[in-house]
Amino acid sequence: MDLKFNLQSYPCSVCGSSDFVLKYNIKGFDIVQCKACSFVYVNPRIKTEELYKLYASDYFNNTQFGYENYELNARLRIMTFEKWYSLIVPFLGPKKEKALDIGCAAGDFIEVLMRNGWKDAEGIELDPTMIERLHEKKIPVSNIPLEKMEATKKYDLITLFDVIEHLPGLSEALNKLKNILEANGTIALITPDYSSTQRKIFGKRWFQYKPYEHIQYFTPDSLTRALKPHGLKIIHHSASGQCADAEFLGSRLERYNFKRLASLFNGITGLFGLKNKAWYADTGSMFVIIKHDPKA
Ligand SMILES: [Zn+2]
Repeated sequence: MDLKFNLQSYPCSVCGSSDFVLKYNIKGFDIVQCKACSFVYVNPRIKTEELYKLYASDYFNNTQFGYENYELNARLRIMTFEKWYSLIVPFLGPKKEKALDIGCAAGDFIEVLMRNGWKDAEGIELDPTMIERLHEKKIPVSNIPLEKMEATKKYDLITLFDVIEHLPGLSEALNKLKNILEANGTIALITPDYSSTQRKIFGKRWFQYKPYEHIQYFTPDSLTRALKPHGLKIIHHSASGQCADAEFLGSRLERYNFKRLASLFNGITGLFGLKNKAWYADTGSMFVIIKHDPKA
């Protein structure tokens, strides 16, 4: 599949300024930094309506963008979701009934929620292949983007795993989150952290630069500023990771051009019988818990 896109300039989605400086050009896209608030984003980027079409295409199984063969890492993904749920639990309110997973893909996290007693867990997903899978599993799903959905009910838990960096209408999305979050509800999100050590070490080669679809790069500070007008605040943030096995870590090392280190690593893990072992590896992302700000 080779899609052609139309690009358009947009102002900074955190502060609204249109004043920016160029940082990098990656895959033909400019990564810029806002002069007013230092938020880093892709500008110009794929037009909003075309972005929605991109996610409604074969997003989970292609090489140009998105995930290459999402199924390949099912085992590691489910382990990761179980770990993430255990990290969310200490922040949950007493009521555990209604949950919404935005960008729920095949519904693996929703199944983790169901196994943990959530009676009413549902998802939002735009990819038609994934929606079909969700229907087969009888998981309730909507194909309307968060920004456009009607706020008809409120949720005790809303999750956005690797989603917010994709959202073209950030302010509308955050406002909708505020409106659909129960008074004592919890939002848990994971997103690449522009202030992470990994980003600083790898610079332009940071694997999170995917300018087709990662259109904005948050830090705890910029996310705090984006949330404030909507009466939401961060109550916890920490470095996030994902479960990774030897093969995954080896391929990540290769991607960063550490080819000798990658083959050494593969050799060692083979030697010690660690091929199937999984580690929780830092991904340069942040795990964030958000609640209504009682002072707002
Ligand atoms: Zn700005």
